[in-house]
Amino acid sequence: MATTLKQLDYSVLQQCMHCGMCLPTCPTYVETKRERNSPRGRIALMRSIADGETQVTKSFGEEMYYCLGCLACVTACPAGVNYVELFETARADVERKGVLHTPQRGFWRWLTLEVLFMRPRLLRAVGMGLRWYQRSGVEKVVRGSGLLRLLPEGLRRLEPQTPVMSAVFSNGLIEEVEEPVGVRKYRVALLTGCVQDLAFAEVNRDTADVLLANGCEVVTPSVQPCCGSLHGHNGAPELAMELARRQLDLFEVESLDAIISNAGGCGSHLKHYGPLLKEDARYAERARLWDSKVRDVHEWLAEIGFRVPSAGCGVEEVTYHESCHLTHGQKVVAAPRLVLGSIPGLKVVELPESNWCCGSAGIYNITQPEQSAKLLKRKVEKIAETGVPVVATSNPGCHLQIAAELKADLGNKCKSVTQPVTLLAQAYRNERSGGVVNGEA
Ligand code: SF4
Ligand code: SF4
Repeated sequence: MATTLKQLDYSVLQQCMHCGMCLPTCPTYVETKRERNSPRGRIALMRSIADGETQVTKSFGEEMYYCLGCLACVTACPAGVNYVELFETARADVERKGVLHTPQRGFWRWLTLEVLFMRPRLLRAVGMGLRWYQRSGVEKVVRGSGLLRLLPEGLRRLEPQTPVMSAVFSNGLIEEVEEPVGVRKYRVALLTGCVQDLAFAEVNRDTADVLLANGCEVVTPSVQPCCGSLHGHNGAPELAMELARRQLDLFEVESLDAIISNAGGCGSHLKHYGPLLKEDARYAERARLWDSKVRDVHEWLAEIGFRVPSAGCGVEEVTYHESCHLTHGQKVVAAPRLVLGSIPGLKVVELPESNWCCGSAGIYNITQPEQSAKLLKRKVEKIAETGVPVVATSNPGCHLQIAAELKADLGNKCKSVTQPVTLLAQAYRNERSGGVVNGEA
């Protein structure tokens, strides 16, 4: 049974010293200027519940779900407040008490958290169905026919945000074990993710290619469970623990030099299996070992001193949007820029407010569409200011969210979203095919 706010180590609740340094970094506080919509205000609410002064109410639940979980406050906080633990415990309390329950919300939570994201084969089967729908032309016909007007309002709003499925998923692109050409220096596991696997399988292929080009043997089980970040962030800690155990069972952790994630949100959660399973006598030690080996791909490349490509990637100018959980959760800030900066002929233009949330934040764009849309608008305006045609990011949620808006924003010169690891993979490919050095493929 996961901890509640009342059972939480009190020192975690006491860390906040009310200094307010986090306030200007919190997107919800900046929007409303209300104390209760700030990190400090939310922590005060959590503490009053732990102290038994107030109850978990509907309004508390709404406040916890208005928070993006972007962790900008964690970066700003001089007291080292463990906001992740507070926030996840608070949301779990909200779900336990059922204060936000409606039949519709209950159905969607059951379908996503308990059914689809607990069964990777079923999720892939749904992805295949969606791929057929999108590629066969049926989607076009349905959209043109006006049939979508029959959907309930919530679903109608979500329909344009449906991710485009990859032509082939990761298991069709990556062998279970792939060996580097030449000397094998490391043995690493590659985590393929859920959304990443279905919508950006080619990014997983690019990641494998980059790892191989740097002397890594790459182990990629063809069916992998969800990492559980969706569950951990949405008040379902028991399911998050179950998924963490399944990951630990799937990989020979001891034999690996690193466990590689290329999705900011997943990586941030994957590095915390130790605290998640600390009370589980069977898994606690392996979970700690696991945490010590999980690396974001850019972090790993910087750590091993990756090989600088000798050819360009076919892109001349790029800007970089930081995924919240990569930058604030994992503190991986310099490495993606190092990767981009290493590519010959590629000019990297700094994005103003690069670490300000784009509003994707897991399923925030679904649960809080208005606030999400405001943040997305702010993000694409900043991208437009750079005047560059390509933006790179390293999280499937950010990728989908920004790409959808750029497509609709006809005046924006930037039309393409990619990932740093994809550009590096392309540079290595151009190198092999004799591509030129000045950025042209
Ligand atoms: S996680 Fe983000 S939205 Fe939530 S309190 Fe911290 S800064 Fe504000
Ligand atoms: S910066 Fe940290 S200590 Fe200061 S108010 Fe915010 S959460 Fe509390």
